[in-house]
Amino acid sequence: MKLLPHTALSTAAGGLVWAITGEPASVPIAIAAGVLPDVDHLVDYYVKYVRRDGRFQFLLLHGWEYLLAGLIAYVFFLQEPWLLAAVAGYATQIAGDQFSHDRARWNTYLVTARAINGFRAPRHGGWGSGRAYQSLVESVPFGREALTRWFERRLPEE
Ligand SMILES: [Zn+2]
Repeated sequence: MKLLPHTALSTAAGGLVWAITGEPASVPIAIAAGVLPDVDHLVDYYVKYVRRDGRFQFLLLHGWEYLLAGLIAYVFFLQEPWLLAAVAGYATQIAGDQFSHDRARWNTYLVTARAINGFRAPRHGGWGSGRAYQSLVESVPFGREALTRWFERRLPEE
């Protein structure tokens, strides 16, 4: 899922938590939790397009397990509005990705399943056509053509 829908969904989740808890900081916290996990793509882009190694896809900050851990922490240990906001924001991130990517499989967004498979991309539906960078290109406000040309030059020979 791209930057804009991630931002919109997490803003809505933060607004909902603000309405429930009365804590306005819920909105920026939910946005941070709903958007920032995507910085892990930079590691994967580095491996695939700079090192030109398409065997792996790590997605280290993407995992339903993290959502579950946050939920457990909130329900059993720490009923703070900021944690609820973070959980709600992260839920929009992981669910948004799971349900918007056609290539997503049951194990695509389970970090333990990916780890067990050695983070090898084909085992969790990763990379597909090799043009996964298009999400990044479409998320930046300027320089799209230059960025596209750079990535195209970095594609492995076919
Ligand atoms: Zn994501």
